[in-house]
Amino acid sequence: MATSRLYKTDAIVLSRFELGEADRVLTLLTPHLGKLKAIARGVRRLTSRLGGTLEPFAELHLVLARGRTFDVVTQVSVAHAWLHFRDALRPTATAWYLAELTDRAIEERHESFAFYALLRRAYELLDTGMAPDRVARWFEMRLADELGVRPEIDRCVECDRTLEPDDAFRWVPALGGVLCGRHAEPPAERLALSLEALKLLRAYRRLDAQALAALRLPGAVEAEVETAMRLFLRYVMEREPRSRAFLDEVRAAR
Ligand SMILES: [Zn+2]
Repeated sequence: MATSRLYKTDAIVLSRFELGEADRVLTLLTPHLGKLKAIARGVRRLTSRLGGTLEPFAELHLVLARGRTFDVVTQVSVAHAWLHFRDALRPTATAWYLAELTDRAIEERHESFAFYALLRRAYELLDTGMAPDRVARWFEMRLADELGVRPEIDRCVECDRTLEPDDAFRWVPALGGVLCGRHAEPPAERLALSLEALKLLRAYRRLDAQALAALRLPGAVEAEVETAMRLFLRYVMEREPRSRAFLDEVRAAR
């Protein structure tokens, strides 16, 4: 095999599906080659050298061979395994949700270093034990930024007036953020937003993860912000991630 067909990259597994008797096709996120699909041959056999290491929620060092349809994984070693959260259902379901959002956010073979760094950081945060919901909101806000659809939370999306504490806020994803009380109800999907929820959205924009992890917040305000970001991303990405339903089930079971 000519060595020029081989290349090395770091990667995080975003998703995978089984192919044939023993193969698996992986969707990989890499720092510099974007998102790509690769095949791991024979990986589901017990004797496979690759099998145990090609797991999600880890940063992998890979050697790939260029192939006609998919590139082929020839070597793998684990650079960082974020193992602490794998045994717990809720952080694991959150990790799948973040991976799916990332998968949906970028095209194959497009530059994606910012997305790689963002997902990697989110997994680190989950692994340190930060509340999965907070990691998810932190991630969603930054993902929106990277997609170039940063929600407007300081000024009214319609009249550009600075939002005042005594205003009536409406969250309108189709307009890109918060609508002040001066305007009629828009025909688009909207959500009444409390001042506390608006402040929390701003906190997610401005505070680093450590500061966010330490906040003490009423559950109702966190739920409001969760719904707001959910509607926003559903609008931006045109449909809801499939893993979101699983995450809802896991959370309802608590
Ligand atoms: Zn306005």
